Amino acid sequence: MDAPTPTPVANPDALKGDGVGCHSGRDAMLEAAASAGKAEVLDQYAADYPKGPHDQPQSMCPAFGSLRVGLRMRRTQTILSGSACCVYGLTFTSHFYGARRSVGYVPFNSETLVTGKLFEDIRESVHAQADPTKLDAIVVINLCVPTASGVPLQLLPKSINGVRVIGIDVPGFGVPTHAEAKDVLAGAMLRYARNEVQSGPVAAPRTGRSERPTVTLLGEIFPADPVGIGMMLEPMGLAAGPIVPTREWRELYAALDCVAVAALHPFYTASVREFAAAGRPVVGSAPVGHDGTEAWLQSIGTAAGVPQVRIDAAKNRILPAIRAALAATPIKGRITMSGYEGSELLVGRLLVESGADLRYVGSACPRTPWNDADRQWLEARGVHVQFRASLEQDIAAMREFRPDLAIGTTPVVQAGKEASIPSLYFTNLISARPLMGPAGAGSLATVVNSAIANKARFDTMKDFFGETGQGDNSGIWSETPRARPEFRDFTRRQVIKLIKRRKAEEMI
Ligand code: SF4
Repeated sequence: MDAPTPTPVANPDALKGDGVGCHSGRDAMLEAAASAGKAEVLDQYAADYPKGPHDQPQSMCPAFGSLRVGLRMRRTQTILSGSACCVYGLTFTSHFYGARRSVGYVPFNSETLVTGKLFEDIRESVHAQADPTKLDAIVVINLCVPTASGVPLQLLPKSINGVRVIGIDVPGFGVPTHAEAKDVLAGAMLRYARNEVQSGPVAAPRTGRSERPTVTLLGEIFPADPVGIGMMLEPMGLAAGPIVPTREWRELYAALDCVAVAALHPFYTASVREFAAAGRPVVGSAPVGHDGTEAWLQSIGTAAGVPQVRIDAAKNRILPAIRAALAATPIKGRITMSGYEGSELLVGRLLVESGADLRYVGSACPRTPWNDADRQWLEARGVHVQFRASLEQDIAAMREFRPDLAIGTTPVVQAGKEASIPSLYFTNLISARPLMGPAGAGSLATVVNSAIANKARFDTMKDFFGETGQGDNSGIWSETPRARPEFRDFTRRQVIKLIKRRKAEEMI
């Protein structure tokens, strides 16, 4: 039999010069990808994940979101197609965050990319991996260079030996944040599962079907939160359903088989599209604090067709406990907060209801219909809400409001500590806590109050160290560092020369 003809790469120009990567600029990458036949998928991303006012928040490589979703699923193999440096970084980060399985990788070089051999290599590796005794699904993720070059993952077989194959493009120049990249894969899986449901019977959940109608929970929440949500739903005759992104393929069917969807995290646009196509109502916000829980129970009950008397029963059971927990664990102090997880507005509501003087909430995620109630609630209480917030905006807010505590991303925390402001990482210390219902109501106070109480230690350290170790002088030195302005001038002249030369070349 003749060897199959390699599928030629659609856009070899993507490899010219330095190649394309984070460093080559978003416009160059978008142009390359569009001319490589990816215009449709990029247009969909632009509609699903609107940019602006700031083009792209500064956060980790977006593909990490999709990779993490794939790695957390049982019987799922996730394979990356991209530059080795990107794959190294993504693999490192996924194991740092406790991935329990290996990351697959199909390496390439200019030749295999340009000749189309890379696509053949991907197809071969997918066939080699497709063992139905071990896997339900294989996910292949095109990173920036293969997307910009038009590597056609859509031509992969949809299924091999019963193992589903899902190919997605997750370029940093098309998907703004790692949060939204979770939605790219979750949405693709829901679409696949929905088509399976339409074509015939599918597997039941491993633990059996719930006796009560379920509410699917959209968003990666703290493990105890679904239990608390289940208790809040119980008086309405409902139960907490699967969490999307799911941990197993068959949970996708159960997720679709719900009475309503709770978009607890507000950025799952593609997933919501699949639920809407399945005829499921979607409710935004989340049961956080007293007001948030009351509004959420009402919306969920209404969406699920629960009689008002049962919705009121649920409120009467839960709301006094939340009010008591908030009163027992007050937070005192001025706070600014920013993050890229998508749950920032929910945490903001909890802080305000706990008594904090919250001035600013920055989120790398966009404004959507599912966080609009939270935005309105916060703004009505004088909190500035910034969607698609840039690092500069987050730091400017911290400098303007001089908070007792800055909650933020790593560089915000660094800037806060430099300014002697107690600071906490949003991702590791705040978003990784229960937030929902009575358990969430008291969960932030201890960590927030003890951080605020540390202010005196920062002042003592500042007094002791003074200006030592700042800016160019930071680090450990065997001699006192000496300023070298002549070196700086020389480098600056070189850079200006280089920019001029590049500009002149562009005009030729
Ligand atoms: S895949 Fe991620 S790390 Fe690699 S070039 Fe794209 S955005 Fe950058």
